[in-house]
Amino acid sequence: MYGSGNQPIIVLKEGTERSKDKEAQFNNIAAAKAVADTIRSTLGPKGMDKMLVDTIGDVVVTNDGVTILKEIDVQHPAAKMVVEVAKTQDDECGDGTTTAVVLAGELLKQSESLIDSNVHPTVITNGFKLASIKAIELLKEISVKTDDKIIKRVAITALTGKSVGGEDEHLSDLVIKAAKAVMDEGKVNVDNIKIEKKVGGVIKDTYMVEGIVIDKERVHPRMPKKVENAKIALLACPMEIKKTEMDAQISITDPASMAAFLAEEEATLKKMVDTIKAAGANVVLCQKGVDDLAQHYMAKQGIFGARRLKQTDLEALAKATGGKIIGNISEVTAKDLGNAKLVEERSIGTEEMTFITGCVNPKAVSLVLRGGTEHVMDEVERAIHDAIRVVGITIEDGKVVAGAGAPEIELALRISEYASSVGGREQLAIEAFAKALEIIPWTISENAGIDSIDTIIKLKTAHEKKGKDGRYYGLDLDTGEAVDMLKKNVVEPLRVKTQAITSATEVANMILRIDDVIASRRAAPMNPMGDPSMGGPGMGGMGGMM
Ligand code: ADP
Ligand code: MG
Repeated sequence: MYGSGNQPIIVLKEGTERSKDKEAQFNNIAAAKAVADTIRSTLGPKGMDKMLVDTIGDVVVTNDGVTILKEIDVQHPAAKMVVEVAKTQDDECGDGTTTAVVLAGELLKQSESLIDSNVHPTVITNGFKLASIKAIELLKEISVKTDDKIIKRVAITALTGKSVGGEDEHLSDLVIKAAKAVMDEGKVNVDNIKIEKKVGGVIKDTYMVEGIVIDKERVHPRMPKKVENAKIALLACPMEIKKTEMDAQISITDPASMAAFLAEEEATLKKMVDTIKAAGANVVLCQKGVDDLAQHYMAKQGIFGARRLKQTDLEALAKATGGKIIGNISEVTAKDLGNAKLVEERSIGTEEMTFITGCVNPKAVSLVLRGGTEHVMDEVERAIHDAIRVVGITIEDGKVVAGAGAPEIELALRISEYASSVGGREQLAIEAFAKALEIIPWTISENAGIDSIDTIIKLKTAHEKKGKDGRYYGLDLDTGEAVDMLKKNVVEPLRVKTQAITSATEVANMILRIDDVIASRRAAPMNPMGDPSMGGPGMGGMGGMM
């Protein structure tokens, strides 16, 4: 940059890296594509899993796009933007994350050749925007109304491809039961479904409990195992004598004052238990510790007690039982207590858990997951979690589309027709958008070891030749043929597709609009994946330009 006197004006700090115009665009596109390439092999039911090992050696085995992207450290600012798409998709729908990212990558790939032939990025982004609006319209047009049978298929589609040991039938029933149980005014409140995992048994042993299950046993063997008509004190404070703040030493010299000191401690603990008992509680669920002596007094009074609950458990219990979380035992009264028909310790495998059932608020359920190993159960948990979300939005919206590439092919065909009606330079971008949609069936096919070119041709032919039903034809992975996916029961919620297309388009456009990357020295923006410690500034520096 030069001022009037040809004197260079230094705007940027020394060491700032800058790339402009096509160079910047191609760099960003390459980074975004690298992210999409990382997860594309997981797309579809025949997609592969990834094993992720973090810096301390913890292993995650997953097929879930957003999980993979959350685990790996992405450093390039444009790559980070793509990772954000996966997170948005996950927040909004709980599914379709791989689809959204793969589509974003492909939109950018398609725009590369347009940029090369000097189509201005603004024209491309306009075209993409028009095409995505059209896509959403068309998706609504080809969506179908749901019923119970379809909801079940949605659950199964969401579970297939995840390593759930062939138990998708059983798990989908549980998922639907849980989603329906937590419905409130047309909304499925996923937060009210609690998932507890216990290693052991097989996935088929997974079951649902109407109420809350916590992974704690009662603290004392002489406490009752079972309390009916439970009045529950939810304690956020310990049932222990407060330890002195500083490491103070109390020196006691004669046995008499020793005895007095202990007696006083005893009395304090007894008073705590008495206060709780007087309020009418027969169950104490405590977030902190419970002193041995307090345990003993509770057992004597027939009170069930568990300690060291997670805060989230305590909060869930407060919601479910209508109890208040108590911070100070001396203030506890009858109306602070939660209510449940039954509090019971039950054995799961070789361990004990506490079941709080028949709660005041029946809209709280728990799923107790069983499975051979920690890793298996983690993946089952993710799968179930996603399936609950997907079933939830299906129940809420009441609309689904066929899966297996059917909607993408239908949109590709109709959007490319639409392109010619728009004309002008935007037409090229709209055509590129249509072409990009084909990446979904292409990749599902590729991941199943089926020839992708064949697949696209078969699907397009079916969509063009089969009249109105043609729109539901997707790829049958067993035969490699085009098949009516409504009949084959491969369906997905409409919202998963609309959201995937919307966010993929948004991020592609956002990246395409950047023509200048100014990165402070610490960031190394030309390397798509890398050390997180070098992250931050690159992204921060870009903020103002988007
Ligand atoms: P995402 O993270 O995008 O949800 P998935 O790995 O779950 O990725 O794959 C979703 C894609 O797989 C969707 O296009 C869906 O229609 C397709 N799909 C799901 N089940 C089947 C099936 N049985 N046959 C063919 N395609 C399927
Ligand atoms: Mg999925």
